[in-house]
Parts: sequence; C-alpha cells; structure tokens
Amino acid sequence: MSDSSTAQPDIVAFVRDGEIWLADGNVVLEAQGHAFKVYQGLLAHNSEVFRDLFSLPQPTSPDAYDGCPIVHLTDHPDELRHLLHALFFAQSRHGDDERLDFSIVASLIRLSHKYQIDHIRNAYLSRMRSCFPTSLETWDAVNRDLGSPVMEFCRKDAITAVNVARLTETDSMLPSALLTCCLMETECILNGVRRIDGTLDRLSPANIIMCLDARQTLLHKAFSTRMEILLPLAASPQCNFDQCRRMLQTVQMMHLHTRPKHLVRDVFSSSEGLISLVQTHEGVCAVCADTWYKAEEQARRQLWIDLPRILGIGVPAGWPRELPM
Ligand SMILES: [Zn+2]
Repeated sequence: MSDSSTAQPDIVAFVRDGEIWLADGNVVLEAQGHAFKVYQGLLAHNSEVFRDLFSLPQPTSPDAYDGCPIVHLTDHPDELRHLLHALFFAQSRHGDDERLDFSIVASLIRLSHKYQIDHIRNAYLSRMRSCFPTSLETWDAVNRDLGSPVMEFCRKDAITAVNVARLTETDSMLPSALLTCCLMETECILNGVRRIDGTLDRLSPANIIMCLDARQTLLHKAFSTRMEILLPLAASPQCNFDQCRRMLQTVQMMHLHTRPKHLVRDVFSSSEGLISLVQTHEGVCAVCADTWYKAEEQARRQLWIDLPRILGIGVPAGWPRELPM
C-alpha cells in the first residue's frame, strides 16, 4: 500500500465497485473513477480488444491498485458493470423469459460491440430486434404492449435504437426504429433524449433529415389514403342505407379536420377500434363496416411494405415485399 505522500490522488479517489470486486482478481478496470477487480485471462479470452489492451503499457498509471495492474477505460461505470456481470456471473445472466429494460439491453450491445464480445452482442441484439420488427403484426403487438416478451421500451428509446442499428449494421431494425422517431415530437427528433446516466443520445444529421422528410410523405399518405377509401365507400352501390352514407361522410369531415400531428401519429394505427365503435352505435351497417375495415387494413399493409422506400433506405432482408393473397 502506498503511503499518502507518494500515492497518486486519482488512484486514491477510486471507488471500489460493490458487486464486481473479485477478491482473487488480477486486474483492475477503472472507469470514471470507479474500479472493478476481475480476471484478466477471462476478459482476454472473450475479447480481442481487452487482449490488446492488456498487452499495452498503461501510460498514466504505472503503479498497481490493490496489487493489480490498472487499465483505464472511458466507459460509464454502470454500462461496464452490466457487461462484467454478463461475463463473470453465470447466475445473474438474464433468462430467455426475462423482460429487460431497453437501457440495459442497449448498454450491453454498445459495450459488447466495442469490446468485440460476440456472444453477448448477438444475444442482446436479438432481444432488441424483437421490438423493432420487420412484420406489421409484431409491430402492432410491441406498440400495444410497449415491448416484447423479452424487452420493454418507450417511444423515445427509438433514437437510441436507430443509433444501435447503425453501429451494429442491423438493417432489419432501421425501418421500424426510424418510423418510431418520425412519430415523435419535432423537438425530440432534433435534440435527442438523455439516458439515465446523463449521456445524450441524438440522431445523426442525416437521420434527422430522413425522419423529417419521411414524416411529410407519411402525412400525405395518411390523409390521401383515408380519403380515397371513404369517398367511394360513401357512394357504394352495395349499400342503400342513407344512414351509412351520412355516417361515412361525417367520418370524412372528421378526417378533414384532424390535426396533422394526430394524422401522422396514427398513420400506422389500426382503424378497427373506430370502425367497431361506429358500427356498435349503428352508424354503419355490417357490410359497410367490413368493406371499410378491409380497405383500411390493405392500405396500412401497403404503407408498411413501402416504408423503407418512404424513409429512403434499402429494403432489409425479411421485409414484406407484397400484400398477402
Ligand atoms: Zn351500409
């Protein structure tokens, strides 16, 4: 142990982590003043980046801490703790049926990507993909449940999800993650969101432009598609009830007066609830309700197929290319 006159102030200020401090560990990782004592060989075995780091002399700190060499890292200690937990503590590894918070999954992907720990990166990317799917049915379910069975998220997390998709080149996540950004307030798209640890996550300027441009197209589509459905339906020869015509014209008028912000927000929402409400109150007959619902669903599916093109990105593998027969 160094005496106080020779000890370096930054070393003395280290906070030992309460969880990741293995008594017989042989290396200390220091991140923003926080120290973790772990096994060097196990880290090197799992990560080429750590292997290279351990082979480099540590310029700022030639001395040891608690008898171990110190490696200085720039990561946030909370993120590093998640990664070390996943690596060193089998009993605390997340179960396949455990529903994790988005921020934990994002942390683990970012750091395992940085340190090239592929099995962790792949496992948690798979979790994140469950909430940014290629199928409209899954999109409906994760938006209804604010997550999948293995991850929960809120809309604002989509900014981080876009950045994770770009970082890891996970193209399949991009359309639904960018779409979720399009549905946010403009301020959020421009200024980003703050993580719990205080770090600001923002979209790149190119992604911001992509979202703002796509939002205009989505607004146009949301408006024109519904008018195209309702106009001929109101004049349909299949139904002779005046009440149906009057109600469909009323819905058209409501649509004309919907605020653009709400039109965009609901662009991928199913109209099933509205249609069944109108039908329940005998505003339209069963035939009109059924025709209306089928036309809305077909338009929604077509818009989903067109989404990558509207966003100006490539169509990822697994994205639907045509309407089901
Ligand atoms: Zn009718």
